[in-house]
Amino acid sequence: MRIAIDGPAAAGKTTIARRLAAELGFLFVPTGAMYRAAALARRRGLSLEATDIAVAADGRILLAGEDVTDLLGSPELDDLSSQVAVDSRVRRRLVAIQRRIAEGQDVVMEGRDIGTVVLPDAELKVYLWATPEERARRRMRDQGGEFADVLAAIRRRDERDSTRANSPLRPAPDAVVIDTTDKSPDQVLAVVRRLVEERRAHVGR
Ligand code: C5P
Repeated sequence: MRIAIDGPAAAGKTTIARRLAAELGFLFVPTGAMYRAAALARRRGLSLEATDIAVAADGRILLAGEDVTDLLGSPELDDLSSQVAVDSRVRRRLVAIQRRIAEGQDVVMEGRDIGTVVLPDAELKVYLWATPEERARRRMRDQGGEFADVLAAIRRRDERDSTRANSPLRPAPDAVVIDTTDKSPDQVLAVVRRLVEERRAHVGR
């Protein structure tokens, strides 16, 4: 079973996908972190074509074999990753890796284009959403900063991610959209868990 979780920045995708994967015993694949690793590679002056980006079984990210997971959460990489993600060569490369990971394996994969491009046949597609103000508050809890600045950065990234020509952010036509604005992670997880149970009953697994 392949579960796609898409949505804009700081909508809670990683939190929900990680917990869901752990509960189900599925592989957790954070594709946002892969674009962040591509941005880090670019900042280090590495050629992307020659640089290996891999996801370990526990969701940690390896850049040319080095575990860079703990370096990926900075506001600078928030912005740089969404710039790198516009590049079709980067997308082609990462999408190929993501599809390979999902072959013959149960996965919870989170990102922007999982339901639309990477795994269009996923058995369950969820699109998590929240108002920009709520997402800015959530981001501040992780990264700190001033509300106005964090909100502006979120809006800028929403705009760039949803207006790019290649794989823009949008819900797949068959995605279940969940507004998480007034929901705790536990409440969102309960909704997604119910959807998984319905789909499992449907596909007989
Ligand atoms: O989800 P996260 O904030 O870590 O993603 C960082 C950036 O990577 C996003 O703003 C987006 O531009 C890009 N991204 C993407 N496609 C994905 C996942 C992330 O374009 N599947």
